[in-house]
Amino acid sequence: MNKLSLKDIEVKDKKVLMRVDFNVPLDGNCNITDDTRIKAALPSIKYLIEKGAKLILVSHLCRPKGNVIEKMRLTPAGTRLGELLGIKVAKLNDCVGSEVEKEADKLKSGEVLLLENARFHKEEEKNDANFSRSMAKLADIYVNDAFGTAHRAHASTVGIAMFINKVACGFLMEKEIKALNKLTENPEKPFTLIMGGAKLADKIPVMESLIDKIDTLLLGGGVAYTFCKAKNWTIGDSLVDEACVDLAKEIITKMRKKRVELHTPLDHVIAQEISENAQTITTERGAVPAGWKGVDIGPQAIEEYETEISLSKTVFWNGPVGVFEIDKFAKGSIAIAKALANNTDAYTVVGGGDSIAAVNKAGVADKISHISTGGGASLEYLAGIELPGIAALTDK
Ligand code: AMP
Repeated sequence: MNKLSLKDIEVKDKKVLMRVDFNVPLDGNCNITDDTRIKAALPSIKYLIEKGAKLILVSHLCRPKGNVIEKMRLTPAGTRLGELLGIKVAKLNDCVGSEVEKEADKLKSGEVLLLENARFHKEEEKNDANFSRSMAKLADIYVNDAFGTAHRAHASTVGIAMFINKVACGFLMEKEIKALNKLTENPEKPFTLIMGGAKLADKIPVMESLIDKIDTLLLGGGVAYTFCKAKNWTIGDSLVDEACVDLAKEIITKMRKKRVELHTPLDHVIAQEISENAQTITTERGAVPAGWKGVDIGPQAIEEYETEISLSKTVFWNGPVGVFEIDKFAKGSIAIAKALANNTDAYTVVGGGDSIAAVNKAGVADKISHISTGGGASLEYLAGIELPGIAALTDK
């Protein structure tokens, strides 16, 4: 990493504003259902407390689109952080302005203040310079530890860096970058890429960018059907991204030229509707009847994919291979998660909220080499795109 790290700067008695990713899932009663992202920020937070910084945290939560939405306050995240740290975390109701500045000035070394959801201001996502300047006024040092939003050029991830002299990279951000670099810089072979989920347009750049590194591409989930369509197989009413069919054809040709083995599922679990009560049957590849859609990979595909994964030395997985939110369509994704966990010889990385949820559902999170907290950010990083949140950090 050629960026200034938290370890490179003197933080004692300094006001440090750190961008974290506390965009945690909440249930209808604002209870946090998964605190992984808060826990992932703890190493940087604990370090800054121990070193005597006056710590100010800023994050976004969901998409309030510039409005104050009660259910999107960061209050539950502040409470949870306080529990995890065993100290009181003061939570403010805004992230800029004179009141916030007064509270920031009152902070003592080792204390922690959590600001309100930055996206309550529309200027945040617009990367507005005045808003960035107001936020920068709160602190002496800026640290970005929010890998999950590093692909967004917002005020709290990019704009603020223009108005503070010292801009450093947090430990989580460093860990994420190192883990992903291991996939691109001399990955141990065979390298298997597994791509599932629904949004094929987000995944194609990664397939293209990793084409010279990977040996095998396993396709599942909704994205597999656009490839099946590109091969003229019958896919019934399965999800298809019409705009990407030609691109899928190009990928098939490119992979063949590069001798990458591209697998589409040998069989599918299909249903007439995506619901808990749907009746399912299994069909061979290319035989999904009209009125039916693929909702999971079938047993033959699971077996084949398990074998491929067991023979790999490096694996990156993004996107569930079925509509895993519904238990009866989650078998394939759980099998993939377990296959990754069982291959203890391989370097395994999982990115994307849904694949992580599948890994958690399978109960194997501790057996995966690296779980990336940033789905979109990890895809863009692996696609070779410079992430604005990383570019904005000071070079060493
Ligand atoms: P993505 O964000 O692109 O990784 O997509 C994740 C979503 O893909 C999840 O909500 C899954 O339910 C969905 N998904 C997975 N398999 C399928 C499928 N066969 N048909 C439709 N959606 C799917």
